[in-house]
Amino acid sequence: MALPPSTPVLLRRLWRDYVRHEPRRIVIAIFFTVALAGLTALYPLAIQQCFDLFTAGKMELAWLIPPAIIVLTVLKSIAQYGQSTTVQSVVLRVIERVQNDLFHALTRADLATIAREAPARHASRFSSDAGAIREALSKSINAMADSLSVVGLVISMIALDWQLSLIALVMYPLAAVPIQRLGRRIRRASASMQARAGDAAAMLNESFAAARVVRAYRLEDETEMRARKTFRALLEAQLAIQRNRARVEPIMEVMGGLAVAAVLAFLGWRISNGEGTIGQFTGFVAALLIAARPARALGTLNSALQEGLGGLTRVFAVLDNKPTITEAPDAKPLPEGHGRIAFENVGFRYENRSEAALRGLSFTVEPGKTVALVGPSGGGKSTAITLVPRLYDPSEGRLTFDGVDLRELKIADLRDAIAYVGQEALIFDDTAHANIACGRPGATRADVEEAAKAAAAHGFIATLPQGYDTLLGSSGSNLSGGQRQRVALARALLRNPRVLLLDEATSALDAENEALVQAALGKLRAGRTTLVIAHRLSTVRDADKIIALENGQAVEEGTHAELMAQNGLYARLVKTQAFSV
Ligand code: ADP
Repeated sequence: MALPPSTPVLLRRLWRDYVRHEPRRIVIAIFFTVALAGLTALYPLAIQQCFDLFTAGKMELAWLIPPAIIVLTVLKSIAQYGQSTTVQSVVLRVIERVQNDLFHALTRADLATIAREAPARHASRFSSDAGAIREALSKSINAMADSLSVVGLVISMIALDWQLSLIALVMYPLAAVPIQRLGRRIRRASASMQARAGDAAAMLNESFAAARVVRAYRLEDETEMRARKTFRALLEAQLAIQRNRARVEPIMEVMGGLAVAAVLAFLGWRISNGEGTIGQFTGFVAALLIAARPARALGTLNSALQEGLGGLTRVFAVLDNKPTITEAPDAKPLPEGHGRIAFENVGFRYENRSEAALRGLSFTVEPGKTVALVGPSGGGKSTAITLVPRLYDPSEGRLTFDGVDLRELKIADLRDAIAYVGQEALIFDDTAHANIACGRPGATRADVEEAAKAAAAHGFIATLPQGYDTLLGSSGSNLSGGQRQRVALARALLRNPRVLLLDEATSALDAENEALVQAALGKLRAGRTTLVIAHRLSTVRDADKIIALENGQAVEEGTHAELMAQNGLYARLVKTQAFSV
């Protein structure tokens, strides 16, 4: 494990990659901040002047002070408003940038990286880690403003009475030591809190996605128990942070109290000796009281900063995760061809498994032909299919596309030449048009409709309230299973790929939808190189070649008739009716 990056390293990177891109807003924020600090520092001086003028009997001048204070307050409020709005706009823009980069990195990460964690865990980075960074940034910037105010106030305190200032000033640094120690604990607690927040997000996501099963099997109590446990763990993690955070304020409060008491005692002694003026005295106490708030804020800064640094560390770790499936610098464009796929002695092992998922797998899908993969569940069929678009690279052997090793091809070219149709038709929360058009960027409206017609999707799309512009709803919840599949097939048809990867649906549709989907599939497969995970007898019968996979190895290869004659695994699958229609 690499050591976590140090605070200066994290902050430098935060500045370089995110914060400094807002120069105009930063300048405005600095202007307001300096104005705020200057105006705050003028307060005690105004109070001192007022009292000294009163006691000296210069009433006509003294009367000018109250309106001056009003002007000062108004200006200070304006500066305060300007400062907090510009700071927030800088901070929120930084967070937006972080979220965009995080999303960019995650959508381009290896599938293996994404598969390592539940989707909701990745999602929670965008809210909880980004939230911690936002909080830390706002607090740090405000802390800079507070430090300036404190500096201004200290200057006016020194102007009023340097000896008293000395007494007050030695008190505050004393508080720094325990606060720093608490900060370190908070950073550790923050990591555990974010992990629990990820657990909670994953749990919620699963529970709601499984809403039907939960009701049908009456699993309400079980899921509730799981939820309670997760929320309890989250509570404990949050309490740990809060306990540490809560210690900071009292420490600051006590130090402040001690400072005020010491100053008052010294003052009392001096006044009894006939030194100092009432104005100096009141001005000084005013400065001390005004400084208490920003000084306390400075004390709590460290804890927010530590939480933010925890979030930054996790976000940067994702950003720095280099994909292993990358394009060679001298990658070639896809050669002319009709889509010939060859597996050459391919072996593959998932990173968290000891058993290989594929072993010594060799076969060829000739252009325009169909190869069906069959075999018991866990045999390696899906794994074999995911190697074709390079979602994973084989651990041994190689795959070629029209004669070229996949690793020598431009990834975009390779993937553009492939369409994948899975068991579950994937529908985005977008319009019918967009759902089909994403099959081929730049497709015209006419192209989309043509593809929809070929996939027997045009008919029902035309009857939707806004036709092609109707939103299909999250995961296509407004469509039937067969309709969703036809939209997915239209998307694949529009792509017009050289190679079709198909994971046949196992669940049967109603007869009418079934016929429509099969007809659309027929059009899609016609004359196209197809590698299919077959679940239907009709598919395997029509296939040019069948590969029976068991434990990651091809145990049989041939046509339906040949394999039936061999009377092995395939014949057994057929006889036990592992294949439906
Ligand atoms: P099939 O599609 O024939 O059912 P798979 O290709 O899904 O088989 O699985 C082959 C083997 O690889 C199985 O042992 C399965 O448990 C394992 N496997 C599949 N996907 C993953 C994954 N993402 N991580 C780890 N192991 C996996």
